[in-house]
Amino acid sequence: MARPDAERAAGSRARPRGILTAMPRYVCATCAAQFPDSPAPPEHCPICTDERQYVPEDGQRWTTFEDLAKTHRNELRADS
Ligand SMILES: [Zn+2]
Repeated sequence: MARPDAERAAGSRARPRGILTAMPRYVCATCAAQFPDSPAPPEHCPICTDERQYVPEDGQRWTTFEDLAKTHRNELRADS
């Protein structure tokens, strides 16, 4: 069966479906800013520590794409 060009071009570099990278991509749970893949979350979020934003009273929290995918999904729908 023929595969789409984009998938064929990725070749052996293609990652298994559902796994973005070996390292998590951390996302700030407050402002949703995304950070480069890393083995541990950044020390702080530069968006939330800016004086125009805020860090929650209970402190900085992080999530990952993998954790978000357990409870969230993207859905495309045609306008009605
Ligand atoms: Zn943030």
